[in-house]
Amino acid sequence: MTTAAVLLKRIDFGDDDLILTYFTRARGKLSVIAKSARKSRKRFCGMLDLFSESNVVCIYGRGRLPVLQEASLLHPFSDIRSSFMKTAYVSYLAEILYHWMEPEAAQIQVFDLLHQVLERIDRNLMPDELLSIVFQMRLLHISGLSPLLDRCCRCHVDMDALKECRVGVNLVRGGVLCKACSRENPPELYLSKGDIKLLQWLGGGDWNKIARIRFSPEFLRDALHFLEVFVPYHLGKEPRSLAVLRQFRSERI
Ligand SMILES: [Zn+2]
Repeated sequence: MTTAAVLLKRIDFGDDDLILTYFTRARGKLSVIAKSARKSRKRFCGMLDLFSESNVVCIYGRGRLPVLQEASLLHPFSDIRSSFMKTAYVSYLAEILYHWMEPEAAQIQVFDLLHQVLERIDRNLMPDELLSIVFQMRLLHISGLSPLLDRCCRCHVDMDALKECRVGVNLVRGGVLCKACSRENPPELYLSKGDIKLLQWLGGGDWNKIARIRFSPEFLRDALHFLEVFVPYHLGKEPRSLAVLRQFRSERI
């Protein structure tokens, strides 16, 4: 089996081997064993770097995991690893995919989204915060878990019909609440109606148009805060990399 693959996770196995978990175009999340990879790093030079994209060839044998036969580097994405902040953002996105995606189930849309986002983070084409927002909104959309943002998730009143400019978010119901429903279900956090419109647009907007818009620091902060609560809630766990990301961000301010 040959496929393009982004390396999400790498763990030592035995004395010389590595278990590599990729997000692949052909098979979705796929863990493979790279025999003697720690002994002969030359054989896989550059292809064992986290978040790099390679063309990998694996064979299914008698073992539990397919064996990596060969790999050729397609995109090193090395500028991601040379920045702590970029590494922190991508580690969080990779951890979401690692926990969320089913093993060996092709998700071509998710693979293409990952590639598009990694390329833009690596080349510094857009702010890292914005790319993290776009990735999470689109992943939720592809997974059928988009937050309900255009009407109250309890009484279904249209958000455009409401006067208040800030609305509450209810995680269990997966969306926004009108003022009356907020009184009975205290929201976990709040979003402005302007933020909601932008979030919805980023979930499906054209990359070229997104690149031309300047987003306010307040929008980026509030949208990230919302998604970094919403996504872990639906994931059922708090990614460990999120604590690191939050720490880097707080030190930068
Ligand atoms: Zn309501």
